[in-house]
Amino acid sequence: MKKFDILVVGGGLAGMSAALACDKAGMNVAIIAKKPVNTDGRTTALFMPSIDFLDELGVWAKIKDQTAALKTMRILDSTNRLIRSRPASFPSTEIGLDAFGYNFPNHPLLISMYEKMAETDIEIIENLAVDYTEDDDHGIITLDHGETVSATHILASDGRNSLIRQKVNISAKTWGYQQKAIVLTFAHKFPHQNISTEFHTEKGPFTQVPLPGKRSSLVWAIKESEEAYFMGLGKDELNQLVEQGLHSTLGPVEIDSELQCFPLSSLIATRFGKGHVMLIGEAAHAFPPIGAQGLNLGLRDVMTAIDCLKQYPDDPEKASNTYDRKRRADVHTRTFGIDMFNRTLLTSFLPVQLIRSGAISAISSIAPLRQFVMRQGALPGVKKEKQSA
Ligand SMILES: Cc1cc2nc3c(=O)[nH]c(=O)nc-3n(C[C@H](O)[C@H](O)[C@H](O)COP(=O)(O)OP(=O)(O)OC[C@H]3O[C@@H](n4cnc5c(N)ncnc54)[C@H](O)[C@@H]3O)c2cc1C
Repeated sequence: MKKFDILVVGGGLAGMSAALACDKAGMNVAIIAKKPVNTDGRTTALFMPSIDFLDELGVWAKIKDQTAALKTMRILDSTNRLIRSRPASFPSTEIGLDAFGYNFPNHPLLISMYEKMAETDIEIIENLAVDYTEDDDHGIITLDHGETVSATHILASDGRNSLIRQKVNISAKTWGYQQKAIVLTFAHKFPHQNISTEFHTEKGPFTQVPLPGKRSSLVWAIKESEEAYFMGLGKDELNQLVEQGLHSTLGPVEIDSELQCFPLSSLIATRFGKGHVMLIGEAAHAFPPIGAQGLNLGLRDVMTAIDCLKQYPDDPEKASNTYDRKRRADVHTRTFGIDMFNRTLLTSFLPVQLIRSGAISAISSIAPLRQFVMRQGALPGVKKEKQSA
């Protein structure tokens, strides 16, 4: 049986970041991951702390020319409700940043991470994990060809249906919204000026995010029951619907990707670390794509996990307990904050609409509050002096 200090399970964006970060810290690490296939048509918006982290891992430079800066974030109430909130605009310059972060297609980043791993000492195990047990000293993983591998620390980044989470007996609370998200990319006539706009509709967010040139990506929340209808529409009808959804702010649009549809649901594990295991990324938490929080949170998991591994290299129990404690506030705040925000969009209950529009209006008109919200959204945990440095 091969033994490692750290074994990462799952080669999504969170898992490969974790493996690269362990390697960069000089740790003996292996990852169970297959080479990424080009099936993820999503784009991801990451804020500056995450971008700086990817830069330190040596993958940012490889994809930089496929990214677009996010300089202003806007929220526009696109509902037909009696009470609607005022438009809110958040320029990054207001908190001393040139940009909040960058948006890029997932696949190039997955590939550049995989290629970067191949240049390092990371052992890539191109299998699936099919079972997990523990003894006092190790977490032990059975691979799909029957062999076993073990490590002192297991970083489980095997996604929302995490096998490792189940095998280590960490339960997770899950709930759905009967929503799905269509994702696509499109070309448009007018420049986006590096503005990302989240249109709030009765079905959830309809979010345009800049890509290089006159192109953008879209995350379009629909009712679960509407999936077949929208996925069956022709390109011309879809182009028109996208332009309408954007209120023609970018002029005529031309969809230039396949459409993909993702179920929207939330998940939160009851613990984030136990025994030899730390849960990373969607193995620990998942929620609807509002405010670009998911992977940003996953990368903060990775940063905290590295700190715990450095602090307790030979004591997995202490490492996983410390990790659990350190991740609680951040993960709970984001998961329940996004859940609440999504629910306020879906309900037509008048008092809730009143509170939502009041909150957005207050944020948009009170500068210190607006700046606080921008910092909490884009720079959580970063000290104010450092932000404006
Ligand atoms: C429509 C949409 C838009 C989004 N936009 C943003 C955004 O703009 N900004 C942002 O920060 N976040 C965004 N997110 C969230 C972000 O995409 C996720 O947080 C992120 O992709 C999760 O990565 P992960 O590595 O944790 O999980 P995954 O991507 O699910 O990776 C898990 C990996 O583990 C592998 N695996 C599973 N089981 C096993 C096993 N038994 N053995 C070995 N390998 C296994 C899988 O094959 C997969 O490769 C968005 C999400 C959605 C749905």
